[in-house]
Amino acid sequence: MALTGIQIFKLLPKTNCKECGVPTCLAFAMNLASGKAELDSCPYVSDEARAQLAEASAPPIRPVAVGKGVRAFTAGGETVLYRHEKTFFNPTALAAQVGSDTPEDALKATLVKWNALQYERVGLNLRPELVVVKDVGGDAAAFAKTAKTVAETSEFNVVLMTEDAAVMKAGIEAAGFKRPLMYAATAATIDDFGAMAKENNLPLAVKADSVDALVPLTEKLTGMGLKDIVIDPGSREIKQNLQDNIVIRRAALKSGNRALGFPTINFPCEMAGNADMETLIAAMQIAKYGGIIVLSDFNAEGVFPLLLERLNIFTDPQRPMTVTEGIYEINNPDENSPILVTTNFALTYFIVSGETEGSKVPSWLLIKDSEGLSVLTGWAAGKFSGDDVGAFVKKCGIMDKVKHKEIIIPGYAAAIAGDMEEELPGWTITVGPREAALIPAFLKSR
Ligand code: SF4
Repeated sequence: MALTGIQIFKLLPKTNCKECGVPTCLAFAMNLASGKAELDSCPYVSDEARAQLAEASAPPIRPVAVGKGVRAFTAGGETVLYRHEKTFFNPTALAAQVGSDTPEDALKATLVKWNALQYERVGLNLRPELVVVKDVGGDAAAFAKTAKTVAETSEFNVVLMTEDAAVMKAGIEAAGFKRPLMYAATAATIDDFGAMAKENNLPLAVKADSVDALVPLTEKLTGMGLKDIVIDPGSREIKQNLQDNIVIRRAALKSGNRALGFPTINFPCEMAGNADMETLIAAMQIAKYGGIIVLSDFNAEGVFPLLLERLNIFTDPQRPMTVTEGIYEINNPDENSPILVTTNFALTYFIVSGETEGSKVPSWLLIKDSEGLSVLTGWAAGKFSGDDVGAFVKKCGIMDKVKHKEIIIPGYAAAIAGDMEEELPGWTITVGPREAALIPAFLKSR
């Protein structure tokens, strides 16, 4: 249970030395209780008090690290119910499932197919993270072999899915080096699975048939010294699943219920009769507090929209998405190719670059930092003025790449042409179309 501000205050030195950046220990205690301060900001906390205060300053939902390598991820660590309050931090991990009876060749072909589902957006590589190896028939050797193939021959991280302790042990021996998630301990197996997770320092999922039934199980695991826990309330019906995810998040954040302060694992693969419905349920779970989502398969038409949804849900709503300022080459431009300039708002970049690429006209696209504002807003806010854009053109290096002196500005920023001409003597400032959709016709007509 998290400590209140007053409880924290009692553990502080009460010297009001101000070194933590606020005027009093009481103010610091209040900030710590509300998650607005870090305990390390006070250098005078005793070790004894620190141990107690660490509890208060820990995120209400524990961040749980799963996997190794480029597809390692952290689930949980969230501090708010609604992303407009602050932001959601750790994107929902996406998993697909294979049976331990999958023939080796078919498994490898599937992994190659799944590995190809990667998409570049706003300078990020969007891709799913996990493969769930599901025990079929209790064959420990087959389970271990499948887990080993996934762990060793692909970037994917692994969920070992079995309720048989001997099968789980074999899976850990084969794929333990990749820090797999063990799924799942139940009331019947919690002692064995808890001991195995502790011995191998692995994250462990625990499954019950209701939210209430999870509480004694997670309390037992934390009593054993385990911290990296993922919870499954067992709901496989849409309304109940949504309700459970919300109840768990609210209990952890609003009631300080540490027994439910863990990321959830969700199984749309067990909740839908077809891939479209599965994708829809997964979309709901990304928006409403799913830590890990397990699909029956990865296919482009399902994974791509889920990755985009995830990208949007897990970005800070108070900071616009941007791309890096600089020169972007489109369709292999040369020294005679036209130069376009626009702002670094990610949506603006994608639309303008997409339309330019679609025109098939080799072009240089200059992206000017406008603090993430679109053209019209950036111009109105003074972040895309003629002086600034002109100065950027001079310093960005485009002059070394072309022989001509003409630059195309967005139609909505026509008003900056005069200032740009003053900043760029000898250059022709051409006003382009207002709408990006007209860029292909504009470029082709030149
Ligand atoms: Fe109090 Fe520590 Fe802040 Fe000093 S640094 S005011 S002792 S909380």
